[in-house]
Amino acid sequence: MPTDAAAAFRFEANPAPVAAALRAERLIDPGFGRVFTDHMATIHWSDTQGWHDPRVHARAPLTMDPASSVLHYAQEIFEGLKAYRLDDGGIALFRPEANAARFRSSARRLAMPELPESLFVQSLEALVKADADWIPTQDGGSLYLRPFMIASEIFLGVKPAAEYLYMVLASSVGAYWKGGARAISLWVSHDYTRAAPGGTGAAKCGGNYATSLVAQADAIRRGCDQVVFLDAAERRWIEELGGMNIFFVFDDGTLRTPALTGTILPGITRDSILTLARAQGLRVEEEPYAVEDWRADAASGRLVESFACGTAAVVTPIGQVSGPDYAFTIGTGATGQTTQRILDQLTALQRARAPDPHGWLHRLD
Ligand SMILES: *Cc1c(COP(=O)(O)O)cnc(C)c1O
Repeated sequence: MPTDAAAAFRFEANPAPVAAALRAERLIDPGFGRVFTDHMATIHWSDTQGWHDPRVHARAPLTMDPASSVLHYAQEIFEGLKAYRLDDGGIALFRPEANAARFRSSARRLAMPELPESLFVQSLEALVKADADWIPTQDGGSLYLRPFMIASEIFLGVKPAAEYLYMVLASSVGAYWKGGARAISLWVSHDYTRAAPGGTGAAKCGGNYATSLVAQADAIRRGCDQVVFLDAAERRWIEELGGMNIFFVFDDGTLRTPALTGTILPGITRDSILTLARAQGLRVEEEPYAVEDWRADAASGRLVESFACGTAAVVTPIGQVSGPDYAFTIGTGATGQTTQRILDQLTALQRARAPDPHGWLHRLD
């Protein structure tokens, strides 16, 4: 593989792209994860050839042998990040190098080959350039990028596959919360856990989501928006939501989030918030927090805000929490000041409307 891999991405234009008028119609209110662009990026890997054949080509269904190993043993990992159209007309990705590093670490945990970080970033650049017209320009809109990798060897034996397919999809998305962030309600699952010590909790793999769905469905049945998981060993320490990390804000201004002990997904939004908060001189703790303390501190007023965070919604305030025999409100039940400030700061930075002291914006030009 040549070192200038972006140049190595062969571009095969979609011979039948969506007409401009139809695309404009789809971009008016795209929602999340339903509107896809004209192209996709792919790279193949085999144990004999390594990474080969990087291409950007027409988005199309896959033809797969039913014995492809991902369909049986779930060797699959993914990433999620956004490309933004900036006010000056440019395009930027937010911390794609961090996603590239996490993708490699997920690959190691799932016994998959590690895609070089430069190739990962170049696959995003090549696809975003091909489909730049699909980036929504309305406030809060972006192009959500979904890099992922599957085991594609045709073999039913149980072992790491000898062939893999890496792909990137791009999806035009609108503001996650129309009309501003709304405080959500959480169901604390005391029945199901997401990740155990030594398991795959820190890897971004589809399997983690598959096992979280029954708990999420339980939360919906109880009238809540999202499930929050406790640790598997003691069923006491708050870990995270199905696809978002969690933060707590105390009355003395301290910000707390559970430490990355191996069962929690190391969110890039989580890391960005910690870095911004520390730079502003806020007191920040990466410490465990027990669900009974959360409840007591919310009642006493020591705990004033809680929020969830992740790429898709950025920052989501938490208003209500319930479990099997308890329910409590956080603060006033609406978006708190600190939550709103962090959301505003992060979105301003992502859209180049604020200084970028950490060099997080990755501009395409
Ligand atoms: C992706 C993900 C997050 C958030 O990570 P970001 O990098 O901030 O998007 C949090 N928890 C889980 C389980 C995830 O899969």
